[in-house]
Amino acid sequence: MAIERTFSILKPDALQSGVIGKVLAKFEEAGLKPVAMKMVQLSRAEAEEFYGIHRERGFFKALIDFMTSGPVILQVLEGENAIAKNREVMGATNPANAAEGTIRRSFAKSIDANTVHGSDSAENAKIEIAYFFAGTEIVKYNWAK
Ligand code: ADP
Ligand code: MG
Repeated sequence: MAIERTFSILKPDALQSGVIGKVLAKFEEAGLKPVAMKMVQLSRAEAEEFYGIHRERGFFKALIDFMTSGPVILQVLEGENAIAKNREVMGATNPANAAEGTIRRSFAKSIDANTVHGSDSAENAKIEIAYFFAGTEIVKYNWAK
């Protein structure tokens, strides 16, 4: 398996519920290391462009309202098979369907307030990382893995 990078967001509910540390622990336990991280308040324009693929969906406005309702944490996660591993640790989009022990099962309140975003493919990981992070903001660890 290859070392990959994926893009992750801790959504506003994660910050409001005070579970930042618990969510980050799930990534660390799964062998996903943050190599870039920042807390921001998304503008509507940024959220709409980021979620542009969902523009025609009925839930689009609710999604943008929610993602701009408070600060979020943006991250790049690195590790073996990171894209699929992150999706596994996140759990299903609807927390009611998410497997036991996943982030969404453990912390999400609804399909809107579902705690985390994660890239769904290598192609989208690359696009999403580049949308929010300059190459100079992504670190390299120098200690042995
Ligand atoms: P995921 O975040 O699991 O990749 P999607 O890319 O399909 O899911 O959708 C993006 C986000 O839009 C979801 O995380 C969720 O917050 C919201 N969403 C998706 N489907 C619905 C829905 N049917 N009703 C309300 N919100 C939804
Ligand atoms: Mg998605």
